[in-house]
Amino acid sequence: MSTENPFLNLTYEPAVEALGNDYYDIVTAADFPQHILRFRNDDLLPRLGLQPETVNDFDFIEAFGQFQQRSPLLALRYHGYQFGDYNPMLGDGRGFLHGQVRGIDGVLYDFGTKGSGTTPYSRNGDGRLTLKGGVREVLASEALHALGVNTSRCLTLVETGENLWRGDEPSPTRSSVMVRFSKSHIRFGTFERLHYLGRADLMTPLIDHVIEVYYSHLMAIQDPQERYGQFYAELVQRIAQLAAQWMSVGFCHAVLNTDNMSITGESFDYGPYAFMDEFNPRFTAAYFDYMGRYSYGNQPRICEWNLWMLQKPLGLIMSASDLETGLASYRSHYYAAYKQRILAKLGFRDLQSELGDELLRLTLELLENTHVRYHDFFSGLTGQFSKHWCNGPEQILQTTMDKSDDDAAALLEAWRLHYHTCLATLSATEITQVADCLRQSNPIVVLLRPEIEAIWEPIVAEDNWQPFYELLAKIQQPFNDR
Ligand code: AMP
Ligand code: MG
Repeated sequence: MSTENPFLNLTYEPAVEALGNDYYDIVTAADFPQHILRFRNDDLLPRLGLQPETVNDFDFIEAFGQFQQRSPLLALRYHGYQFGDYNPMLGDGRGFLHGQVRGIDGVLYDFGTKGSGTTPYSRNGDGRLTLKGGVREVLASEALHALGVNTSRCLTLVETGENLWRGDEPSPTRSSVMVRFSKSHIRFGTFERLHYLGRADLMTPLIDHVIEVYYSHLMAIQDPQERYGQFYAELVQRIAQLAAQWMSVGFCHAVLNTDNMSITGESFDYGPYAFMDEFNPRFTAAYFDYMGRYSYGNQPRICEWNLWMLQKPLGLIMSASDLETGLASYRSHYYAAYKQRILAKLGFRDLQSELGDELLRLTLELLENTHVRYHDFFSGLTGQFSKHWCNGPEQILQTTMDKSDDDAAALLEAWRLHYHTCLATLSATEITQVADCLRQSNPIVVLLRPEIEAIWEPIVAEDNWQPFYELLAKIQQPFNDR
């Protein structure tokens, strides 16, 4: 084993391993016939104290394709509610925790794999990730990060030279292994499993660990009950903010099962996700989501349901009233975060509260009743914005909306009038800041499905990765904020 490899020389902190083997199984990685590095996330290296120039492609392959390692590989144990039904047959079935490293920012990061081989939790699965699945997760996490969503990232994607058979991709299809860079792979489902097994004794070490590492400011609270109460209340707030972030950028995660909900409030695990084009709360991204449980518009409610279900395991060590109090503020946290982000997309950083409430209400009413393309609406506003709009409502936002639809025309008229009222409260300097705010809040490129399909075609047809790298560069800088 090369000792020059900077990844193998990092200081690994065995935080999960130290919890003891009730929470994981030690596994080995698959031996792949081929290793072709398709993506390396140089943006993350400084966080690990590494300079990208000093890390070569083979270092990535050795650590994150061949899985030479400094610590045991841990398939994490968890259960979860999948589409509303409890599933005790889960766990890391195609991944493991490869290692944990403290960033120079003081945060403890996980290297977590996807597609690295079978584990005791694979059931009938092959433990593999398709190349397209890997490409899609790289794209989703980079796009969401650039849009200000609290998300895991991808550190590497290595193509591994196997043929895979999948029902949702033309098969055989190519294989890959991805390494995720995230703040913890402990999920709501990690707690749910302990409740199911009746292991209250394992609950306290787990919650103490989560608070110590990911909610460390709460360690100052001496009384454990009070500390746990604050932890749950803060988790509720973080999840409400995450839901507001997804909603504002038009993102549909698609599989919000409790095993895909991180206990740190970070978004992760991108399967059949989609960014929504035409505004539609009923938009679903997963073809198997027949009931629309995880539709775009249901996401805030589902996150609240997931937090509510988490009360069952937490109830083993916490009082019902602390849990109730924690969840009670979910909706107000969600509304505040969502309102702030939508008002920013409309150009307002600071708007008198009632005016803001009304602008949000009218905007949603307009979007819902006109089936306008979500991102086009905001980029249209950004492109057309003029300081002269404060002279009168007539000029505000010319759209391609169906002019023959009287209801839509009336909604647009009401929206224009109110938008003008909001502008009229601003000073001349504040008006120029509206233009900046619009540019900084509304992307000029959006990762819609056709964009992904367009870069996938040349990869399949001629192994041409250039369009992928070009799209990646664009979504990493989505704003025209000069
Ligand atoms: P996901 O839908 O990716 O969140 O996965 C749900 C569960 O199925 C997790 O326990 C995964 O580890 C497992 N799983 C998904 N795909 C595979 C596969 N190809 N092989 C084995 N396990 C899998
Ligand atoms: Mg998952």
